[in-house]
Amino acid sequence: MYPGLDYGLQKLGIDFDTQKLPFKKLKSIGLKPRQKWNMMMQDAASNMRKLPQKALPFVEKAHALSTIGNVAICCSKEDLIKSMDENGIDKSIVIAHPPLIPNEFILEECNNNDRLIPVVNIPNTVNEPKKVLRDYVDQGAVALKIHAAADGKQNKDNHYRLLLEQANELKLPVIIHTGCIHIQPAYKDPDMGHAKHFEPWFQEYPNIKFVLAHMNYHYPETAIEFCENYSNVYCDCSWQPAEIIDEALKRIPKKIMFGTDWPLIGSNQTTMVKRTESLLIDEALKEQFYKQTAQKVFKL
Ligand SMILES: [Zn+2]
Repeated sequence: MYPGLDYGLQKLGIDFDTQKLPFKKLKSIGLKPRQKWNMMMQDAASNMRKLPQKALPFVEKAHALSTIGNVAICCSKEDLIKSMDENGIDKSIVIAHPPLIPNEFILEECNNNDRLIPVVNIPNTVNEPKKVLRDYVDQGAVALKIHAAADGKQNKDNHYRLLLEQANELKLPVIIHTGCIHIQPAYKDPDMGHAKHFEPWFQEYPNIKFVLAHMNYHYPETAIEFCENYSNVYCDCSWQPAEIIDEALKRIPKKIMFGTDWPLIGSNQTTMVKRTESLLIDEALKEQFYKQTAQKVFKL
């Protein structure tokens, strides 16, 4: 979910009914081909790891640019709820990514809607990160997100230490973006996204539940092993091909969730539901994967 024109105008104090804008109608033009394209791109993303390493920086940038259109157009709360309804999804984790997606925007949009679960991401430009995190939790945030690749910061960074200390005190789960994607300047240092960097945190804060979003993307074995070795580490299955999700469901059935940091909106939820539905036959496992593990981690 991204701040659209409605939010921008509201912040500028302009009262304008954007529902009447022709943009709302324009959204539907070319929707089907856009969705189909995005679904193809989602499948392609899961298989990029088979390409030569040298090609990845170029291919990943081209891929991100090719899919951003549909996500940018279908970005509102209404779009998200519509996608959830179409795909049988009861609740969504909705994560801030300041300054592009401000924490205040996410908290406001999720307020009074028990289907949307807000998660905050505190930038290192904030003076009192501990206090800011406490305030956001008071306003309804259920978890903290850390995106070291986007921040370009190392795991030893003092900003992260302060946030983890506060999360530990508040018994707040922490979602970490994992996976190296070469989309600079959006991600300042792609390598900082590798799950291996966060192992010291799992040891230092055994009472924090950590979620490795995207299962470390091109290197899922590392994420699966961390889930096996640390009782406080979980993951979601986004960006993974069917065969990896299948393997993870067998090895770490109580540690893997459908999604936290993705599948966003557009046609991405449909893509992932189709992929996981083909694997989940056992009803008890389905309950665990789609619902119970997330309920436990995020105390829903
Ligand atoms: Zn992510």
